[in-house]
Parts: sequence; C-alpha cells; structure tokens
Amino acid sequence: MVKCQVVMDALERIAPKRLAEDWDNPGLLVGAFNQDIRKILVCLDVSDAVVEQAVKTGANMIVAHHPLIFKGIKKIRTDLPLGARLQNLLKHDIAVAAAHTNLDIAVGGVNDVLAEAIGLGKLSTFVITSQEEDGTVESLGRIGSLPAPMEVTDFARQIREALPTEHVRLVNAGPRPVRKVALCSGSGAEFIQKAAFMGADAYVTGDVKYHEAQTAVEMGMHVIDAGHFATEFPVVEVLCERLAAELAEYHMEVIADTESGDFFTIV
Ligand SMILES: [Zn+2]
Repeated sequence: MVKCQVVMDALERIAPKRLAEDWDNPGLLVGAFNQDIRKILVCLDVSDAVVEQAVKTGANMIVAHHPLIFKGIKKIRTDLPLGARLQNLLKHDIAVAAAHTNLDIAVGGVNDVLAEAIGLGKLSTFVITSQEEDGTVESLGRIGSLPAPMEVTDFARQIREALPTEHVRLVNAGPRPVRKVALCSGSGAEFIQKAAFMGADAYVTGDVKYHEAQTAVEMGMHVIDAGHFATEFPVVEVLCERLAAELAEYHMEVIADTESGDFFTIV
C-alpha cells in the first residue's frame, strides 16, 4: 500500500505534466493525494465497464489516458453518464488520474509505443510542442522510417496485424512506396499537411475525415487510419509495466485493462 501521492510522483516520472498541452487536463482528477492505494488499474478510458473491473478486482486507483473530466462541470447529475460514474467512483473510494497529451509527448509514451509496434525506426520529432534552453525538443507524434521501402498495401496490412484492430482504412495516394512515415496516435488528422510537407510517404493516425483524406491524396501522401482506439490502446500494457517498475519497491499491484475495445465495429 502506498499513498496516492507516491503513485502520482511515479506517473510524473513517466509522463511529466509540464509536457501536456495547455487545453488538456491531466493529473489527479478524483480522489485524494493522501489516500492509501492498494492496487492500480491502467486503461484508455474510464468507462463504466472499467470502473466495474476496478471494483471487482479490488483496484482503488484508475490511471487512464483520456481525462474523465475535461472541462469545468457545473453540476453532478447522477442520471447522466459522467455523474453516475463519479458517484460510483466516490462510493467505492476509487481515485482517478489521467496522463493524456503528456503521455502522448513523453519519451516511451503513446507515440513511441505506436511507432515501435508498426515497425518504425530512427524516430525523430514531428509536431514540436516545446523547446528547452538546453536543446531538448518535445513533440506530438513521431517521424520514422521502415527498414526497407514497402508497398503501401503491405504496410497497411502490417499495421493491422500489429494493432488491436481487425481493419485499417487506407487512403492510397498512388504507386509511391513507403519508407518515411509520420504518425500521431489518436486524432491526428489536423497534421496531414505538415506530414506531407515534411516529406512523409505515409501518415498513420486515427479519426480521419473525407476531406482530410482528399487533402492527403492531393499532396501525394498515403494515409492509414488505424482508428483512435487501436493507435492508443497498446500504451495501456506499457504504462502498466512502467508504473509497476516505478513502484516495485512497494510491491504495488498494477493491472492493465484487457476488456475494453473500440466503439466502432465493422458489419
Ligand atoms: Zn486519444
């Protein structure tokens, strides 16, 4: 058992809050820093199913990628999903923390996990979010390269096999082989032009819309939309292992959500 503060310090070492975007809401969102934590459940979203999983397994802290509370709330209506969930969490004394864009940006975070999963090496920064005086540069997304050029359909299949999804959507921009790849986990379609300008042969992200796909084709760059869920979910297991390692001296039990899936299914 450790104090919640100790868990938050461990999370800070993995995904420092200063890396987060201004609009984001990472950190401890429910619970108390002086609360005793027995067991931690790591997940992407704090869904009702995840809260049930925590109750069932005896986890009294949930560490999620997506913040449960994003904007200011003016009422806690327990007949609505968020209010009911907050009530359930408080009733069971379950603390909730989030590491969102700070975990996207952090070294070894969501984007690095995605890059490794889909076979990219020689990673460098993509969308710069901060630049320190000592020369340290932080970025959302990564640019990397494949060991050898590939046909884009083969690359799309490779991504499908690597990620927790049964399909990916390929925006094929023509016969251009793929070697240099830009990526942004989750919803990264806003960076399509930037990826093209940086010379990427293909861009991997989720949540791409029709006209965004059109832009990519017009700029001669392939896009592989592997889905918001599938591009982010692999970090859950990694974050679970890293938290367990950070808290090893306390023998803290950290488990990963293995039950959640994508909202989208194909029929
Ligand atoms: Zn996301």
